[in-house]
Amino acid sequence: MLIFLDFDDVLFNTKKFKDAYFSLFKKRGVSRDIFDKFYYTPSDSGIDRYCPVNHVKRICKELNLNYSDFKDDVLEFVGDTSRYIFGDSVSFLNNFSKNELYLVSFSKTDFQKSKIFNSGIANHFCKIKIVNELKGDAINEIIKNNKIKYNQKNYFIDDRVEHLTDAKIKNPNLTTIFLLRKEGRYKDRKNKYCDYKVSNFNEILKIIKQKNVKKIS
Ligand SMILES: [Mg+2]
Repeated sequence: MLIFLDFDDVLFNTKKFKDAYFSLFKKRGVSRDIFDKFYYTPSDSGIDRYCPVNHVKRICKELNLNYSDFKDDVLEFVGDTSRYIFGDSVSFLNNFSKNELYLVSFSKTDFQKSKIFNSGIANHFCKIKIVNELKGDAINEIIKNNKIKYNQKNYFIDDRVEHLTDAKIKNPNLTTIFLLRKEGRYKDRKNKYCDYKVSNFNEILKIIKQKNVKKIS
């Protein structure tokens, strides 16, 4: 059995994290407009990425603020993101061995890597894959490289229906679980590519345990 998990709004309370992150700026008098205006670092490739150091640097220039302290504050904050892991995440992961668990996250940036690797849960996973596209291909690639046992069940848990849809279309044998937490930022709607819709990890555990019980014939 392999379990593919999304990070943001699934294992990690991204809304709470983002609110706390913004408060670091707010306490220095940075408005939401200024925060948003300088959020992405423009790039020649046309793909703008988020970089906290550049964000701070550009805001400090605009508002004439002390860069050094501000930057240190932001880097310290990003250096430990463990308090934003949902209360039921670790107990869920503890039910499985490392080689059953894969983290598949969207947005290939250093900021995303920091959030994940500084959250204290990275060592639960056999592999952490960060992608910039829909997740179906990355999941199939991992499944293909694993020795599939007869009748093996594989699961994919995400809060975004577009990723679940892509993965289910590309691999109809995959069991897709749409996790819509009340704390999540998105309110997607379940569609026919989502096998289950749940609101916490307890419900997921029940589904996985039930499906993996050997049928006595
Ligand atoms: Mg997510």
